[in-house]
Amino acid sequence: MLTAMLRALYPGSFDPPTNGHLNIIQRCARIFDEIEVVIADNPNKHYTFSAAERFEMMQQLMRAYDNITVHIWDRLVVEFAAKAGARVMIRGVRALQDFEYEFELSLLNKGLNQSVETIFVPTDPQYFVLRSSAIKELARLGGDISNMVPVSVADRLREKMSRPLREA
Ligand code: ADP
Repeated sequence: MLTAMLRALYPGSFDPPTNGHLNIIQRCARIFDEIEVVIADNPNKHYTFSAAERFEMMQQLMRAYDNITVHIWDRLVVEFAAKAGARVMIRGVRALQDFEYEFELSLLNKGLNQSVETIFVPTDPQYFVLRSSAIKELARLGGDISNMVPVSVADRLREKMSRPLREA
């Protein structure tokens, strides 16, 4: 029997990528034939790491997978899905408040493109509290982030956070 190849999109800011993101990607890589990780570059959003930096970090982490590709995208995610021929959009959920936001987002996206289905993947319990914003704050204050992000990301974070945010 011939089965259609299943290509999924995993969009996000990944500012920076965390072990929580990687866990979702690793689990989904066993379900889908191909995963397109889409790094959002929203001009109205302020990021700690530039799109190029986030791309570099993610690209390096994904090097070991031959069914995962990393992209930067500055338009609607559903437009990327149509371009890439992806019918599934993966979103990770940690707590109930994530679900509320993600549910609304999935309805918005469904309104924009009926043929793209959002699939929610619940976090594995050990990644429950991992949030890029909290990890950045911890790094800025010198806290131990070594079990929250890959070593390469921790190095980049320490370097970025040791610089003054604004010149006096
Ligand atoms: P966005 O700005 O699009 O929310 P993020 O980089 O914060 O981008 O997150 C990308 C996706 O990964 C979102 O669906 C988010 O809920 C999910 N995610 C983030 N951290 C975790 C985690 N620790 N466990 C599971 N999913 C997560």
